[in-house]
Amino acid sequence: MRTFEFVAASSSADARALAAAGGARFYAGGTTLVDLMKADVERPWRVVDISRLPLASIEVRGDVVRIGALARNSDVAYDDAIASRFPVVSEALLSGASGQIRNAATVGGNLLQRTRCAYFRDTRWRCNKREPGSGCDALDGFNRGHAILGGSDACIATYPGDLAVALTALDARVEVEGDGGTRAVPVDAFFLQPADRPDRENVLAPGELVTAVEIDADPLFARSHYLKVRDRASFEFALASVACAVRLDGTRIAAARLALGGIATVPWRARDAEAALVGAKADDETFARAAEAALAGARARTHNAYKVELAKRAIVRALHWVCGGAA
Ligand code: SF4
Repeated sequence: MRTFEFVAASSSADARALAAAGGARFYAGGTTLVDLMKADVERPWRVVDISRLPLASIEVRGDVVRIGALARNSDVAYDDAIASRFPVVSEALLSGASGQIRNAATVGGNLLQRTRCAYFRDTRWRCNKREPGSGCDALDGFNRGHAILGGSDACIATYPGDLAVALTALDARVEVEGDGGTRAVPVDAFFLQPADRPDRENVLAPGELVTAVEIDADPLFARSHYLKVRDRASFEFALASVACAVRLDGTRIAAARLALGGIATVPWRARDAEAALVGAKADDETFARAAEAALAGARARTHNAYKVELAKRAIVRALHWVCGGAA
C-alpha cells in the first residue's frame, strides 16, 4: 500500500474542504476503499475520515423516510420504519456481504462501491475504468459476470450493489452536499452508464459528499421484494437480481416498480417491463411478457449469454412472490 495522509473531518463542510483537491477520498466504513488501496487500484494521497460526522440517523419525516449516509447497513436493514415500509430495502441489504461487513459498511459507501470486475481490480490488466484510454481486457476475456445491459465498447462492468437496485425501484433520492448547497438527485440519475468514460461512475463532482438518502413512503412500496441470484447463498455478488413492488386491484396489477441488478452497468430501472405489468392480470403470461420487455435490449458477450434467461426467470419468480399468487 502506498503512503497517504489520514485526516479526520470535524463537519461536512470541513470534509468537503479537505477533499476538494483531486485525488483525495472519503473514508467511512472502509469496506470498499481499503480493499482497493491494498490492491493499488485506489491511490489517494489523502484519506478524509468522515465516520464521526452526525449523519447516521434514520428518521421518518411525514411521508418521507430519511436515511443518513453514515447509517450502517445492518442498522438500516433491521430498522422497523424501513422493514415495514420498504421490505425490498431490508431484503437487499441483508442479501449483501457478510454480517461483519454489514455492521461496518455505510449507506453512502454502499451506493458508491465499485465494480467487482477482476480486470479492474488487478493492475496487470488493461482497464478503461482504472486507466482511461488503456483498453478493456474484459471485452474478449472471461466476462461471465459482466453486463448485458448498459455496456459500451469501452466497459461492460456490472454495478455490484444491491441497495441501489432497491432504491432505484422506489424512486429514492440521493442528497448531495456541495459548494452550492444541497441538492437531491434521483437514484435513477445518480449513476452514469460507461459510454466512452467508464471512469465516471456517478454525478458527484470532486469534493461533493453524499449526506443522505430519502424515500417517499408510498403505500405501494410496502408490498415489495428483492430476489438475488448468485453462485452461493451468502457473501456473494448478484449474477442477476430483481427489486419489485406492486399494488394489486383484485387480480390485476394497478401499479408496479421493477429494477434489475447484477446484469447492467448501473442499477437498471425496467420501465418497459413496468408498462407491461400495469393494468394486466397478475399471472404467468403477464410476468413472462414483462421479463421479455426488460431484457429486450440485452447484448450478451462470449461468456454471459446465460444471464438473459437467468434474469427473465428471476423477474418471473420475483413477481410471483410479490403478487402472492393473486391470480
Ligand atoms: Fe475495466 Fe470495465 Fe473493462 Fe472491467 S469491463 S476491465 S472495469 S473497462
